[in-house]
Amino acid sequence: MTVNECHPNHIAHKVPVGISACLLGDNVRFNGGHSRSLYCLGPLAEYFEYHKFCPEMAAGFGTPRPTMRLEGDPDQPRLVFSNSTDVEITEQLTSANERYLDNMPELDGYIVMKNSPSCGLERIKVYQENGHPHMRRVKGLFTQALEERFPLLPIEEDGRLNDPLLRENFLLRVFAHHEFRHTVLNALSMKNLIDFHSRYKYVVMAHSQPAYKSIGRLLSGQEKMPIADLTEEYFRQFMQALAKPAKRKNHCNVLMHLVGYLKKEVDSHIRQDILNVVEQYRRGEVNLTTPTTLLYHYLKLYGSEYVKEQRYFAPYPQALGIRNTV
Ligand code: SF4
Repeated sequence: MTVNECHPNHIAHKVPVGISACLLGDNVRFNGGHSRSLYCLGPLAEYFEYHKFCPEMAAGFGTPRPTMRLEGDPDQPRLVFSNSTDVEITEQLTSANERYLDNMPELDGYIVMKNSPSCGLERIKVYQENGHPHMRRVKGLFTQALEERFPLLPIEEDGRLNDPLLRENFLLRVFAHHEFRHTVLNALSMKNLIDFHSRYKYVVMAHSQPAYKSIGRLLSGQEKMPIADLTEEYFRQFMQALAKPAKRKNHCNVLMHLVGYLKKEVDSHIRQDILNVVEQYRRGEVNLTTPTTLLYHYLKLYGSEYVKEQRYFAPYPQALGIRNTV
């Protein structure tokens, strides 16, 4: 059994993910072209069921169309055509955004196109009267509305998916969001919530010790809450904990904890060999897949069901090769 086979629900069906339509090769850009993403259409398409949307086409601007840009107050930028800045088109776009968001299917992630005043995730310029951009950069108007409506939804920009750590973090969050929705939100019970947390305990620990402790307190029953409120608060803290990539030293911590589960069954020389590989990972000589694969090999033989089911070992399909890059 590989680490992937112990979590078949990850690959039982495709995960619904929203995407800027131009990234799938639709000719919807201002110039009539597209921005096809080979990574989105290649490896990710094996696991993601895409729901595409082009805010500017939905707003009726058509293609080809003049380029657009943001202007004015970075807190409330106006969308204008770059060649006729006195024509206000903000409302046309934001209405289309709202219509889409009102009817958006349940998704577990969203991939947006960089540098777009509608879809960009960050660093979008807001031009001032003097013709120069404001020092502050903002999100595109669609992405900002998406984030406001669904603050826990993992959102990433196609270009940032080239960064191994950001890619790893995005995929981890998408698959975790999907699992939570299916196993907890759609079947609300204390047991399902506790079971989920038991599987994800070491994933949370790898991302944030304070969040790990805070979630532990939340679930210990100290704070009396109705199950729906407790689940909502858990999900909020959980997704926030995962919002940033886990640090190498935190992974080492988790790996050392997990080696502890072999204390009784495995010879100290073997445990030392595993710890040596963890040290190699700490020094950056090997990637994360090396210590996790070695450790899982022994836990599979000698570990309890609890530790074998830890999502930490397979938070996303192994075939994506993510842990070979971080
Ligand atoms: S970046 Fe967004 S608005 Fe622009 S073409 Fe792509 S999907 Fe449409």
